[in-house]
Amino acid sequence: MDGKAYQQNLMNMCAAGQHDPTKKYGICGIITAIVCFPCGLICLFSDVEKRCVRCGVKC
Ligand SMILES: [Zn+2]
Repeated sequence: MDGKAYQQNLMNMCAAGQHDPTKKYGICGIITAIVCFPCGLICLFSDVEKRCVRCGVKC
């Protein structure tokens, strides 16, 4: 399987709804977590965004 076919296969998985979500913390949440530790951790976890690593769609 060459690179292009591999890429196509991954995109097919996304098209079928099988995304590969990754957690991304917002900068505001990280700053608040440091400044208002430990209470700011609540803010950090509420400012998290899940996005697919392949196509970047929110999931
Ligand atoms: Zn995807």
